[in-house]
Amino acid sequence: MFRTHTCGELSLKSIEQTVTLSGWVQRSRDLGGMTFIDLRDRYGITQLVFNMDQNVALCGEARKLGREYVIQARGVVKERSNKNPKIPTGDIEIFVEELRVLNKSEVPPFTIEDVSDGGDELRMKYRYLDLRRAPLRRNLELRHRMAQEVRNYMDSQKFIEIETPVLMKSTPEGARDFVVPSRMNPGQFYALPQSPQQLKQLLMVAGYDRYFQIVKCFRDEDLRADRQPEFTQIDCEMAFVDREDILQIFEGMTRHLFKSIKGIEFKEPFTRMSFQEAMSSYGVDKPDLRFGMKIKEITGAVKGKGFQVFDSAEYVGAICAAGCSEYSRKELDALTDFVKKPQIGAKGLVYAKYGQDGSLKSSVDKFFTSEDLKNWFSTMEGAQGDLILILAGDRKKTLSALGELRLEMGNRLGLRKDDVFKPLWVIDFPLLEWDEETKRWYAMHHPFTSPMDEDVAYFESDPGRVRAKAYDLVINGTEMGGGSIRIFNKERQQLMFKVLGFSAEEAEMKFGFLMNAFRFGAPPHGGIAFGFDRLTALFAGESSIRDVIAFPKNNMGRDMMMDSPSEISEEQFKELSIRVELKK
Ligand code: ASP
Repeated sequence: MFRTHTCGELSLKSIEQTVTLSGWVQRSRDLGGMTFIDLRDRYGITQLVFNMDQNVALCGEARKLGREYVIQARGVVKERSNKNPKIPTGDIEIFVEELRVLNKSEVPPFTIEDVSDGGDELRMKYRYLDLRRAPLRRNLELRHRMAQEVRNYMDSQKFIEIETPVLMKSTPEGARDFVVPSRMNPGQFYALPQSPQQLKQLLMVAGYDRYFQIVKCFRDEDLRADRQPEFTQIDCEMAFVDREDILQIFEGMTRHLFKSIKGIEFKEPFTRMSFQEAMSSYGVDKPDLRFGMKIKEITGAVKGKGFQVFDSAEYVGAICAAGCSEYSRKELDALTDFVKKPQIGAKGLVYAKYGQDGSLKSSVDKFFTSEDLKNWFSTMEGAQGDLILILAGDRKKTLSALGELRLEMGNRLGLRKDDVFKPLWVIDFPLLEWDEETKRWYAMHHPFTSPMDEDVAYFESDPGRVRAKAYDLVINGTEMGGGSIRIFNKERQQLMFKVLGFSAEEAEMKFGFLMNAFRFGAPPHGGIAFGFDRLTALFAGESSIRDVIAFPKNNMGRDMMMDSPSEISEEQFKELSIRVELKK
């Protein structure tokens, strides 16, 4: 028997018991005639003690142990004189009588501590060592518990988990596909699923009216902190439902997770906000509601005073930062630099301050009187001590820049707290989005999303006006999930493909199997998918989803540990009937 207990469970209750533990040497200290070793396993750390006076040879052996050696120790549990309240086993230590080295270890390339001295690259390369660190271990345990709770909830609601294939057909979810060559079908390729979208819809046609799956999805996109080329979704679909049913069930799932994992209960129903409202008041379709500071349009109030920037702008909007009237020149310059960054794209920033002493001042005093400024503050519901920040220009871009500025101010003022959670549903999205570059309409969610019944009339005459039966669950400024009620009728789906610019043949080639299925009694249906990595990162308080994935890829989509992707052999190419010529 390698162990009678784990390194995380012994306490004063076990005093004088003889126990056997196995684990890794976290650290060792020699103090006079004593050697102390922190022994670590998945469950915690227990202190081992070796006493020179009692056993010279054993103590000598202990002193030879290096960091990360795997050892087994048998000994007696004793009360510690010098207790460590920081760890659960801090009241006791083991007086070791027998020691066995199970395996040696080279000196690890970085310290296996909560805060390691290893850089990102190194820790990725030796991910199995990184995973020994407690913060990552806690994240993976959390991820496991969340998956269990998702399954508990879904099972209680009569959903069944059904696996769908990974070798699939290319489908349009808006990203590039990863493809896999087929040896048995030379020149033909599978695509890895961007999501099981069409398959889950087919399961509805097949009569499995409540499906879910915790499933890997693959999208060949440029990577960011909350994106990985392969990621995990909680993918769901239901038949005989409308939007309200879906929102209820998945608000329920979200509440269940918060309650069972974090002990948090939301008193109120989740806020519901239209896409329009999100865009005009927060400048994004995923508003962070942990703080107010809403965007307001002031175009009417500022035009006609001779200030060219405002006079020529399609839109002028502002936010009001409470308590910031004393911002210095330097702070305001920093905010100006922030909005001028290429990814934000504003040309400049106008401000107005309402001092604690009642004084009014702005960066455009030449054009606007104190009376004007006072009006601005009343429009913005600002008061003495506040600061108004104004941007002007094209409506869409300016709103988006104001949205970024609002988040930046939220950060500066510490209003985006990690332990506050503000979920909301964003609803009433437009069905289609016009792309200037390619001069065509794209589905904002995906091509299977149903238009709102009352907007169907404009489908061909004014596509931009059609709203979708789509919804996103947003928490703290991140999209956690999204889905829609689907089109379930063949003619309407064909019309949608037509508006999206697919020829009849293209539509047949890409989606023929779904179209065919719709001929055989497809029930009304809809669904949603949650980003499981993002949800876990939110619960873990991590800003990158990498920290909740056991073996993630880096920004170049590389697995540093396996050194993948990598070349394959001539032989493999031959088998696949493929010849590779890299473009220079
Ligand atoms: N398949 C969609 C996605 O991955 C979600 C859905 O519509 O259910 O975004």
